[in-house]
Amino acid sequence: MYADIIVDISYEKLDRIFQYRIPKELEGRLTIGSRVEIPFGAGNRKISGYVVGFSEYADYPEEKLKRISRVMENSRRVDEIFIRLAAWMRSVYGSTMNQALKTVIPIKKTIKGKEKKWILPMSDMEERMAGLGRKSPAKERLFSIVKDREALSFEEATKDFGISPAVIKQMQELQIIRLVSEQVYRNPAVYQKEREKREIVLTAQQQRIADDFLWRYKKGDRTTSLILGVTGSGKTEVYMKLIDGIILQKKQAIVLIPEIALTFQTMQRFYEHFGERASIINSRMSMGERSDQLARAERGEIDIIIGPRSALFTPFKHLGLIVIDEEHEGSYKSENVPKYHARETAEELARLTDAALVLGSATPSVESYYKALAGEYRLYELSERVGIRKLPEVEVVDLREELKQGNRTMFSRSLRKKMEERLERKEQIMLFLNRRGYGGFVSCRSCGEAMRCPHCDVGLTAHREGNRRNTGFRGEFPCNESLRCHYCGYQIPLPKTCPTCGSPYIGVFGTGTQRLEEAVKKEFPQAALLRMDMDTTRTKDSYEEILSAFARGEADILIGTQMIVKGHDFPNVTLVGVVAADLSLFGADYRSSEKTFELLTQAAGRAGRGDAPGEVVIQTYNPEHYSIVEAAKQDYKGFYEQELLYRQLMKYPPCGQLLAVLVASQEEEKAAQLSDKLAALTADLTENGLEMLGPTKAGISRIKDIYRYVLYYKEAADGELLSEAKQRMERFLLKENGQEKGDCMVQFDFNPMINY
Ligand code: ADP
Ligand code: ZN
Ligand code: ZN
Repeated sequence: MYADIIVDISYEKLDRIFQYRIPKELEGRLTIGSRVEIPFGAGNRKISGYVVGFSEYADYPEEKLKRISRVMENSRRVDEIFIRLAAWMRSVYGSTMNQALKTVIPIKKTIKGKEKKWILPMSDMEERMAGLGRKSPAKERLFSIVKDREALSFEEATKDFGISPAVIKQMQELQIIRLVSEQVYRNPAVYQKEREKREIVLTAQQQRIADDFLWRYKKGDRTTSLILGVTGSGKTEVYMKLIDGIILQKKQAIVLIPEIALTFQTMQRFYEHFGERASIINSRMSMGERSDQLARAERGEIDIIIGPRSALFTPFKHLGLIVIDEEHEGSYKSENVPKYHARETAEELARLTDAALVLGSATPSVESYYKALAGEYRLYELSERVGIRKLPEVEVVDLREELKQGNRTMFSRSLRKKMEERLERKEQIMLFLNRRGYGGFVSCRSCGEAMRCPHCDVGLTAHREGNRRNTGFRGEFPCNESLRCHYCGYQIPLPKTCPTCGSPYIGVFGTGTQRLEEAVKKEFPQAALLRMDMDTTRTKDSYEEILSAFARGEADILIGTQMIVKGHDFPNVTLVGVVAADLSLFGADYRSSEKTFELLTQAAGRAGRGDAPGEVVIQTYNPEHYSIVEAAKQDYKGFYEQELLYRQLMKYPPCGQLLAVLVASQEEEKAAQLSDKLAALTADLTENGLEMLGPTKAGISRIKDIYRYVLYYKEAADGELLSEAKQRMERFLLKENGQEKGDCMVQFDFNPMINY
């Protein structure tokens, strides 16, 4: 046996893995993550390294390999945990060890924090000064300033008092003063000290969860918990109580919040509660600021860090709790290799560190709720909104009826009337388009029916022949030539009339925020508008600015995509209009119904957060679709039951596992050939129950002149065959590296959240 070793990452690069021989006496004593001492380089200098894998074969002639010197016992450093985590990620998601390591240890070189220098008086400075004889006026000045102080900052001395660094140095050499320097870590907290900490008394439901969780935690029970709590039920307050509890036990906590919900408002609540013991990390911070937060965490200067997906890799020494808020969010899945899911990875990290994992959502992912029902997760429920605030009333409007009545505008009669009322009463309105990067599906405006793949039961997507993808949002009825399934490649010509009802009102469904804005301007010229989408939030703080402007009442109507439904409380919003609920309903992937339910529920949750009751209008061509029916009732369980039937029938997660294999190349032929080869390599596994879909051109078949082919595997059971298929392909690609792989890039995506 041979061990793959990376040299200690704190001072060497981790770009390479070195193979070492395992001496007899160490056999069986090494595991992945073991810290070992190894001879390194020409001089065989002894350095430390980590075992990251084992192999049966030597990559070089055996006699050329050096031997591991010894295991370094009792070193449970944080690095070690993360190396194990990386090894786990590598094997589950498919990537190289280096890619995995770079993910869990994102900042390789710790960027040094700023230094602050202080000038301190020496206790016998007066005598020394007196003994000097003639002194320059500058020295006299520095002496008199420092004399009566505990300390003077170097900056103040040079800037405010105009004393040159040379004089300070001389005085130091004369031992009249001394200089000390202190590491200053940038603290991103905009913490308002003078603000009173709000005293919140938990409701009975909240308290019961906190008590039960902490009681079990103390007993050592580390079962993952799922808090299913309707919007506004006070989940965040519960998280904070749980964190209080684990801090009392000298433990630390990581709180993951989707980037989009990491608003000033959210952060302020954590700062108010935890003060300077809380910190934040996000993508808007500089590398230096981020690395400072990681350093503060490692040194134990903070107890809690709040951030998006990558905050999971904060190197706390005493991690006790990981909270994942809005755990259903797609952004918890990484789009880079390894394509890890933060929820799954957090579970593994919690296992490695003996921490607990708490998930929370008003609309949990089907996967999580499935586990909760199976008893794998502990389920907690918050069924009531805090205070007297009721859930809003939801009206579902049938757009097919509107069409029949000759109304072809974007606003149903009911929504228009309610908007007028709100504008008159000076209450605010949110108009929501649940557009989600899907699109291009074709449906009928007369009967609501969408074109679906007969094999995969997902929406078919319109494609123009050629390579550019038609996103479908350019107009309502563009003339596309074919409809295609993004999973299996099934393809039919675009029908001219609806196969169900014969209506000619069939076409690519779509509308954009910009068009909606124009329509609102035309119909409600008196209203002040704000629009929030990808286009209006390009700059760093624009997202926050638009939301605050709306919160300050600077506009009557906020128009936006899913961006507007997260993380903000707008007490004056009494009407939420979902303009076209179908937009996310027939996407080319199996999560479309789940996404729709989520978005509608979250959007509805925005109404009536203040004292005035809220109303929601959902416009749709499919009023009887269960995603819409159950979202209108805010009934997660009702939705789940029906969704699960679909997942079971089609063997989609959690009732099955899915693996996407993306093959990309500058030469289309090569990508096509390699994907065929990979399919052939695994074809025999289909006899045992593995399903193979494709290979086919990817939905987005070309990006920046790189051609993309995709191959899907589906398995009903535990995904064992799927793993086998992945391993076969990985081995093949490794062995044939250069030749067969050609100039192709191959990526694995386990239970993908996106469409290729
Ligand atoms: P969720 O995260 O479930 O949407 P929040 O934790 O944001 O809910 O709570 C919604 C609002 O109710 C917040 O303004 C919060 O401060 C307030 N709140 C939550 N719990 C209580 C409580 N026990 N007493 C008073 N106000 C509360
Ligand atoms: Zn029809
Ligand atoms: Zn299909």
